[in-house]
Amino acid sequence: MTRNPFTSAGTILGHAFGYGVSRLRSPRESLRAEEAERLLDCLVEAGPIYMKLGQLLATRSDLVPVEWADKLRTLQDDAPHMDAATTRAVVTRELRAPMNSVFREFDLAPVASGSVAQVHRARLLDGQEVAVKLVKEGVAEHIDQNLRLMGRGIRLADKVLPVVAESDGIRRFAEVSALFRSQADMLQEAVRQKAVYRNFGGHPYVRVPRVVPDLVTPRMLTMEFMEGIRGNSAHEVRLPGAQLARRLQDTIYTMLYMHGLSHGDPHPGNILFSQDGALILLDYGITVELTEDEKWGLSSFYYACTRKEWDIAVDRFTAHFVTGAENLRARWEEYRGELVATLERHFDTLSNRWSTISYFRDVRDILHRYGARYTTSFTKVELVFLSCEGFATQLDPEINIWDNARKFTDRFSPYMSKAVRERFDLQFRKQIPGSLDMRDRADKSLVAPTHIHRYFFPSTYPIFVKDALAGRIRDVDGNEYVDLSGGYGPHILGYSHPVVNEAITSGVASGLVNGIGNQPEIELAELLVDAFPSADKALLCNSGTESVLLAIRLCRAYRKRRTVVKFEGHYHGFSDQGMVSSWFRFTGDKHAPQPIAGTLGSDPNVVQNTVVLQYGDIAALEQLRERADELACVICEPMPSSTTTFDLDFLTALRAVCTDTGVPLVFDEVVTGFRVAYGGAQTLAGIEPDLTCLGKVIGGGLPCGAVAGRAELIETCRSSEDPFRDYEQKAFAGGTLSGNSLTCRAGTAVLTHLRENQHLYEELDAKTQWLRREFVESTGKHGISCRINAQRSIFSLNFSHRSAGIYRERMAGSNFKATIALAYYMRQHGVYMPELHSFLLSVAHTDEDLAATSKAFDLSVADMANDGFFVT
Ligand code: PLP
Repeated sequence: MTRNPFTSAGTILGHAFGYGVSRLRSPRESLRAEEAERLLDCLVEAGPIYMKLGQLLATRSDLVPVEWADKLRTLQDDAPHMDAATTRAVVTRELRAPMNSVFREFDLAPVASGSVAQVHRARLLDGQEVAVKLVKEGVAEHIDQNLRLMGRGIRLADKVLPVVAESDGIRRFAEVSALFRSQADMLQEAVRQKAVYRNFGGHPYVRVPRVVPDLVTPRMLTMEFMEGIRGNSAHEVRLPGAQLARRLQDTIYTMLYMHGLSHGDPHPGNILFSQDGALILLDYGITVELTEDEKWGLSSFYYACTRKEWDIAVDRFTAHFVTGAENLRARWEEYRGELVATLERHFDTLSNRWSTISYFRDVRDILHRYGARYTTSFTKVELVFLSCEGFATQLDPEINIWDNARKFTDRFSPYMSKAVRERFDLQFRKQIPGSLDMRDRADKSLVAPTHIHRYFFPSTYPIFVKDALAGRIRDVDGNEYVDLSGGYGPHILGYSHPVVNEAITSGVASGLVNGIGNQPEIELAELLVDAFPSADKALLCNSGTESVLLAIRLCRAYRKRRTVVKFEGHYHGFSDQGMVSSWFRFTGDKHAPQPIAGTLGSDPNVVQNTVVLQYGDIAALEQLRERADELACVICEPMPSSTTTFDLDFLTALRAVCTDTGVPLVFDEVVTGFRVAYGGAQTLAGIEPDLTCLGKVIGGGLPCGAVAGRAELIETCRSSEDPFRDYEQKAFAGGTLSGNSLTCRAGTAVLTHLRENQHLYEELDAKTQWLRREFVESTGKHGISCRINAQRSIFSLNFSHRSAGIYRERMAGSNFKATIALAYYMRQHGVYMPELHSFLLSVAHTDEDLAATSKAFDLSVADMANDGFFVT
């Protein structure tokens, strides 16, 4: 099958001539069919690269005559293939063994044949049915020869044609060449297929064949056989074409925006459907990978377009997807004006007749006029969108591409969309008029404590609480709710618990003391030191954030080093360092994350002085050894509330590295401290840190924080009685209200109660597990992808098919819109849960409260499914 590369171009010329002659001779009716036939022959003869082009054209009946598109579809799965004898020889060569030593059956007639490879149905000796993909004999060599020839042409053109040099033709060609070459490399393809398989694990309607790892060689890829209806015969599927088209679009966007790894060639030959409409994605010859920053750029650009904020869209587009942007600067306003007009035309005026191809073309023309161009990544994304759009339009000729895209993009947003807001406005105006008045009143004087219009976690329909008792709260309108917020953590005993009330009442009667020694502060410190085997001493402060700030300062002072190691997705309070790479914005490869500020206004030096690793990645801990000499400490949530579990092997390895290197290990147990066990997650894991940061529960509902730990570290803030030595060796810890008598009395009362009633923790876990099962059953019943992690009173819920793994991947899969909406549906059904936050049980929740919560959840998710929150 190997051809001289020169024949490819020659073939095309020959056919062009033949085509010219036929045009002169043929009657008009038969002309199109004949053209199509010739084009097909021409592409097949010219070789795999040209066949690939033909596959793309086959999905574009809006660009080429329908007869052409119909004919070219053959290339998607019915291209010429190797004969039986060659096939047998190839398989035997790849196996390095006779066929029957591996396969019980092997059908030598392929089930599909594309431009590069053909696929056979076979059965392994153990009976498993498999698909065996074979690179056609000579194709790899042919691709190589053609690309080399084309490469020579491009290099020549680069010298003589300014347009080639200007458009960075050589580099672009190198990238395209790599793509083509990798298509004939089954080892690389298997790696990509496995990654996509993992990404879609648990997805309700996307299937990826599992690779059989032992039977993968450079020219052969064996995978699970999946039966399905071909993409071009989608009318045989039980679901309507419109629904299949929506699913297809959603699947492609999920891969691009969320997974950052997309099938690169989603034409109908590569996608099968099950009878009930599941998509089976085949062929990972071409994939598109986006970095975390590119994903961010793509999402943020389209998000601005959904909001019709054109100036912002232009800024984002230019920042993320344009190279040569420096050429634009001189004529920025002019460029901006042109691009705004184009975006507006496509995303607004023409949006119901959306055409990716004309949109990309118009934008490309503008860039070209200003001496700039798309980045390679965006060009690849463009190709995926093109294939997807072609196929989706084939499935549903009436499809509103942009409308579907907008719905998808919108789900990233933690803010209410107009549509969702309209859904709730009427209802809440009736249910909570008093609270809404207070919201509007607050809006005039109050910005951002933790519950109204806070950055990133806004509450459109906040309730204002009149009173709270045990597991319930009542709003100013008299509505009662089961409360799952737990005030973000302190109220483990429920609201208004008698021991807390009594402590506070008697505390008030004795006068509020702060800044002067008082017995309650000693009592609280004693309880803390007693609760943690790792702690000799403690210091008190006013919040979890303060405890982290102080712990880090102590470690820096003690070690005389600056750099802090933390883990991606771990929030340690609102300090600059506590928020680095903590949620929403990440950067760098997921296996080698880089620090990024969690909020504007962060000191860039603090960000730079932070090393970010992945929780659970034991191998990455080697970096701690390598960089130990720069490190002040490692801070970690031992049991992150997003996963509600701890990784014992990881924590053990982390402890060992810190012990070996002398780098202090700080556990942030602000949430878990006295919530998951008396003595926190470290007690459950049996791992002792050097310092523990605390807050929430230890103040009984009043502001409180503490650091407890090894004496030599805590005593870094204790005076040496030599002011000069203090300045050189010691660190300051203080605070007007730190250790005030009222907080310490309340905290002492709660901790004493918990210490004496430790059975409460087991009971709380049993309630947690019961409720988790109920939630899982409800979402399962309604066919909704939802991951619910729950452990020892902490719940984390995510509308995604992805299991809790690396935090950024979990976040990327989140349907924020649905999560916010859930909170509001639950409110309508009498349960209060915070928007976009883990939720918590208290020991005061009764069986009745739990049953009411379960029922509310079931009703809420049913409403949500009916109201179209999920692509089904
Ligand atoms: N650390 C963790 C793990 C937290 O979850 C929080 C708050 O939610 C903090 C620290 C900060 O605590 P605070 O909000 O009391 O400042």
